[in-house]
Amino acid sequence: MLLLAVDYSENIKFINEENPIEEYHRLELPDTCPICSFGISPECILVHHKSHIITELLCGCPRHECGSLFFAVYKDDFHTELLRFYPYSKVNKKFPEEISEISSEFVTIYNQAHHAEQEGLDLICGVGYRKALEYLIKDFAIGNNSDDIEKIQKMPLQQCVQKYIDQSDIKDMAERAIWLGNDETHYVRKWGSKDIKDLKNLIDLTVYYLSMELKAKKYREEMTK
Ligand SMILES: [Zn+2]
Repeated sequence: MLLLAVDYSENIKFINEENPIEEYHRLELPDTCPICSFGISPECILVHHKSHIITELLCGCPRHECGSLFFAVYKDDFHTELLRFYPYSKVNKKFPEEISEISSEFVTIYNQAHHAEQEGLDLICGVGYRKALEYLIKDFAIGNNSDDIEKIQKMPLQQCVQKYIDQSDIKDMAERAIWLGNDETHYVRKWGSKDIKDLKNLIDLTVYYLSMELKAKKYREEMTK
């Protein structure tokens, strides 16, 4: 018999044939591993009734490469709600090399906002995404117009896109990302039906078109006719 300062035996129940996970149908099982971020159907190991409203479920990630254990924490009030996971490792979003080359600041700021979002700070992460976008576009513009560095740095972002971005695909996506980004910084939203997801999609599209442009430029320069 193990001697523990606290007796958990009343509060912990292992999941097994006598006590299958199906018994806990009110607990919505996690569909993503908080450690590796892959979509999973977790192994369920034990249930810990921490208090009369908090239940913790110890899960295992079935992916061979990960295999981590983590807790899903539920609050059981009127209805059961999946509150959070722990441990929680923050995920960095990866960007193509040519993007980090023209604007490493964009990648850093974007990921700070991304971490804030993962922490549940959904009301302020949008401001960070908007700031990241400003660095991306201005650094791209500066890359192509090295004589105008100071002018570009001080210029409102919208104006910078109008003046320095010629490619219509980049311009169209970047402009819309700016509109939504501005919504994140202002008291009143103009685009009520759009949210952070849309802002991130538009930044993704801007990154995508910029990256194509940069790659094509590289080959044109390296392989002149
Ligand atoms: Zn995993």
